[in-house]
Amino acid sequence: MSLCINPNCQNTDNPDNLLRCQSCGSELLLEGRYRVTRLVSDKGGYGDIYEVRDRSSIPKVLKVLKEEKKNDTKAI
Ligand SMILES: [Zn+2]
Repeated sequence: MSLCINPNCQNTDNPDNLLRCQSCGSELLLEGRYRVTRLVSDKGGYGDIYEVRDRSSIPKVLKVLKEEKKNDTKAI
C-alpha cells in the first residue's frame, strides 16, 4: 500500500501501482523514488513520521512538518 501525505487528503490509502493519489491527485512516488508505506507516529509536536521505501530493502523515515512549523528553524 502507498499512503498519500497530503494533510487535506480524504482517502490516503492507495494501491502500490499508482503514481498519483486516486483521491486528491498528489504524487505517491516522492522525489521519483520513495513510496510512503506506513504512518509510524502522528503524535509528535513537530509533525508526522512515516516509513518510506525505495528500491533497496532498507526502510527509511520521512518526517512531514506541520504547517505551523514550516518556518521553525528548530523543527527544520
Ligand atoms: Zn491524496
